[in-house]
Amino acid sequence: MVAANQTIDPAVLQEKEKYSRYERIAETFTYLGVFGAFILSFLTFNLPIDRLSLWKLFGFVFVFAFIWFRVIPKKYGGLWKVLTYYYCSIIFVWIGVHYTTGVGSLVLFFFYLTVFSAAAALETKYFISVVALIALALVIEGLFFSSAFAPELRLNLTILHLWALLIVAIFGKSVFNAQKIAEESGESEQLKTAKQIDIVKNEFVFIISNKLRQPILALLNYLQASLKLGEKQLSADLFDLLKKTNENADRLASLVNDLSDLSRIESQKLKLNIQNVNLNQLVGSTLSDFSMVAAEKTVKLIYQPNFETVIISGDPSRLHEVLANLIDNAIKYSPANSQISVGFSKEGAMAQVLIRDSGFGIPDEAKAHLFEKFYRVNRSSSEPKGTGLGLFVAKELVERQGGKIWFDSQVGRGTTFFFTLPLVKEVKGK
Ligand code: ADP
Repeated sequence: MVAANQTIDPAVLQEKEKYSRYERIAETFTYLGVFGAFILSFLTFNLPIDRLSLWKLFGFVFVFAFIWFRVIPKKYGGLWKVLTYYYCSIIFVWIGVHYTTGVGSLVLFFFYLTVFSAAAALETKYFISVVALIALALVIEGLFFSSAFAPELRLNLTILHLWALLIVAIFGKSVFNAQKIAEESGESEQLKTAKQIDIVKNEFVFIISNKLRQPILALLNYLQASLKLGEKQLSADLFDLLKKTNENADRLASLVNDLSDLSRIESQKLKLNIQNVNLNQLVGSTLSDFSMVAAEKTVKLIYQPNFETVIISGDPSRLHEVLANLIDNAIKYSPANSQISVGFSKEGAMAQVLIRDSGFGIPDEAKAHLFEKFYRVNRSSSEPKGTGLGLFVAKELVERQGGKIWFDSQVGRGTTFFFTLPLVKEVKGK
């Protein structure tokens, strides 16, 4: 036992704990092997070694194992202790072999190593077949072909070898199983810790983003009210600054939204408020939110209105988020004086929305990763700032509302994002 007042590195302790399992196995099998051989030595006689010397050897091995595993304090455990014990066992067996049948047995002894390694490599049923075949070979060789020995001695030697084979086989399998258990428990511990960290992280992001949301919304409201008043009352420079502040507050709001969605998605807490949504109104109002940002960048936002009312089934605030993310990207990743058009159409049972820009485009190698969490295209140091969350969140939101999202892009020519949503009904004549 480790004294309570001793400080020991947990990694060292874990390592010792791991090897203590092997120590227990080695110890148990030593006692079992010696005890079995001791019993057999009563049945078997006429060995090329006298019984007393054999017992002395057994006694020595027993006492050695006892001192090694029980008397030496646990804190000195670890790989070296197990390994040295293995080396010593080989020497003891060698001594035993030397005084019995010499090199013939030694060869057989190394034959057992096959069994030991088969224990680690093979499934139990195949492993048993290897052990059985070796046992059969031992019996046939021992009983029928070892003519150098008297028949009685042959029987004794065969029994001893079968016992040794059994011990080695079970020993090998136990060591292997202990190793497997150690690995599995290590893995599941790691998995458990990773999951806990993930839950805490999601909870943290969820709380922070929701706490941030209220003051940011208030800030946006004040800024928009100031902008309305300010146009007439403020100097052009001050009004310009106010506009830029408003834009950045808008970005901040959408970042906080993305973060809050991300934590909801990851913790399976995302709830949708599905209802009938008028797509014409949704697209129109979202586009008007961006009129100032677009004008600021001298990007032309073109709305291709649909002359029939399109009603879809979805969560209006989440759809607004998706659309806002895609329009924001289209503006961000387009040069000044370019055009962005937004429109929608009916395609069978779905409404299809498209956002087309004539911006930088998406390189081929980035296309497969675009919807991954935190993925950003690495264009150059002048790449607009972002988090790589927008498209991941957009895809999750669209798919959870029963739609699909994809894009078509060519570097230098532009990108078109499409997404679909289930149609509810058709109202003619708007
Ligand atoms: P963010 O814009 O915050 O980096 P997104 O998930 O919205 O994260 O986008 C991921 C990446 O996809 C961006 O880094 C950007 O390079 C690329 N991208 C998204 N939309 C467009 C677009 N319309 N044109 C070109 N690249 C785009």
